[in-house]
Amino acid sequence: MVLLPVLPPLEGESTVSWCCRLGPFHAGIEGPDWLRMLQISQRSVRETSDVCVNRLAELTGIAPERIRSTGVVRKGEWAYEHRGVSFGIRFALHTWTSYCPACLLEDTNPGSSSIGRRVGRISWMFSPVRTCPVHGILLTRRPNKSFTEQFQDMSRVAPSNKELEAEVSSATSRPISPLQEYVQRRFSGQQDSGWLHAQAIDQAVKACEMLGACLVFGAHTDLDKLSMAQWDEAGGVGFQAASVGPDRIRSALEEIAIASRKVKSGGGPQAAYGRLYQWLQFNKTRREPGPIREVVREHILDTMEVEPGTRLFGSVVEQRRRHSVASLARESGIHPKTLNRALVRQGIIHGGDEDRINSAVSFNAQAGETLAERINKSLPIKSIPDYLNCNRRQAEMLTRAGIVRQIVPGIGRSGGVLSNVPVAELDRFLREFRANGVPAQCPGSGMTDVISASQLARQPVVDIVRLVLDGELSHIELLAEDLRFKSVLVDPDEIRKVVATKEGELGLTAEEVASRLGIFPSGVTHLRKTPDRDGKPFISATEIVNATGAVKYRFAVEEVDRFEAAHAALSTLAAEHGVTSKAMAARLREAGISPIVRREYLNAAIYRRSDL
Ligand SMILES: [Zn+2]
Repeated sequence: MVLLPVLPPLEGESTVSWCCRLGPFHAGIEGPDWLRMLQISQRSVRETSDVCVNRLAELTGIAPERIRSTGVVRKGEWAYEHRGVSFGIRFALHTWTSYCPACLLEDTNPGSSSIGRRVGRISWMFSPVRTCPVHGILLTRRPNKSFTEQFQDMSRVAPSNKELEAEVSSATSRPISPLQEYVQRRFSGQQDSGWLHAQAIDQAVKACEMLGACLVFGAHTDLDKLSMAQWDEAGGVGFQAASVGPDRIRSALEEIAIASRKVKSGGGPQAAYGRLYQWLQFNKTRREPGPIREVVREHILDTMEVEPGTRLFGSVVEQRRRHSVASLARESGIHPKTLNRALVRQGIIHGGDEDRINSAVSFNAQAGETLAERINKSLPIKSIPDYLNCNRRQAEMLTRAGIVRQIVPGIGRSGGVLSNVPVAELDRFLREFRANGVPAQCPGSGMTDVISASQLARQPVVDIVRLVLDGELSHIELLAEDLRFKSVLVDPDEIRKVVATKEGELGLTAEEVASRLGIFPSGVTHLRKTPDRDGKPFISATEIVNATGAVKYRFAVEEVDRFEAAHAALSTLAAEHGVTSKAMAARLREAGISPIVRREYLNAAIYRRSDL
């Protein structure tokens, strides 16, 4: 039996509201009385039960699927669904009364689509829906006064038209939050592949709102005191971050932590993330927070010092990822000030202050532990000779040259324990020092350790060590490893040749330049030191400094060519002009042209060709 004429539910109307219109329309009695007459319980309407849906379908001729889409369907003790979208109990507000006063006033107009009757909209009961999309004003939302108000008959739960008018006149217009729009899109069946879409709608909404509340109002805001408009703002801001995905959420988390530290420095994850942390750590609701929990957990473990064994968001932290100066000092037994200085100097704490420990700062645990171990297993420079089998001076030279690196390289001798050299570093040096050699039972002819070779070849020990390390020597012998520094044998003759070749590659010696130009070797030095008219030396040179600080100069062949082309000696000019040197000198003097420097410095009068 179908009641005629057919009265279908209006667009967006709730099942409860529709039933409240069916009663007066078909039977001239109020909705609740009509349902009672038909033995349909209010609860079955509220829960959109199958029995209720089928019964209403029979009576009204409206398809069951359409009826079901107008209600919140109960799917289990704590589970609900609307238009195929599932959520937990708190998402649809069963114990709250919600309405838009402007919508209800328009409904009472006899020309309205409900012919003067108030219409309850299903969307009003979803917690993130706070703004009327038609009127752009905040919904009125209050806790129910009694159990019977769970049946949201707008003629009973909403106040008189006069009061609705007062509510409308005091309302201010506001935009619809992007989170509310997102919720509407999901209910209308639109799919996207974003991070939020992979989770239940109420998880997505709560993640946005909690993130946004901490972003906008601070991590330690009193959530109970936030107004509906403030929650709406929070949801919108949180959505902007969360809808992009984990990376953007992590930047938002960093923003929250920075703001928390401005209010109060120090403290662990709870101090940084306040309400967000408490929600995820002490979750008292039955609803799982969803993927946001893992994002925040990972971020905390990646950025803050958390002890292994700590229970964080429901699971135990297996491995430490970050240390603080205090935690690493405790673990390693190194003084916190020393440790802080080393961590800052080594860049493990980026941009820190080496004289002030910042308790809010954490750093990569593995890098920190490696450094602590290098400190704990290190030797002062004065103990290196024993370890390497060399003398004190060589140990100091090797350290100063950076061939063996101190805990803090280049710190010199005044860094306390940080001036030490890690044992691992000395071992590395010995390994590399021996890497290019060939084992020998006894020294080959002319082969000697680096210290003796230094005296024979007149080259600093450190320079010979470098030749060995750089693979510049073809002949290296290795004695037993326990001789350590003295286990590496080299050939002083080869060293002399290699050094000479290397220097030769850099250019001519002063003597070679002198003989080419026919001047004194001291004249070459004079030309190197004396500036020409352009301010640059007449002949520029490359400076070579050896490990003891001795300086040598080498002159590039091109540089000498350039000088020769631009200048000529008096004898050359005389020959070019077919006159005697004496006559040539007289001509030049008459023309007011003088040599570039006094002839006694060079043992020759040299002129600039451009002056002629
Ligand atoms: Zn409205």
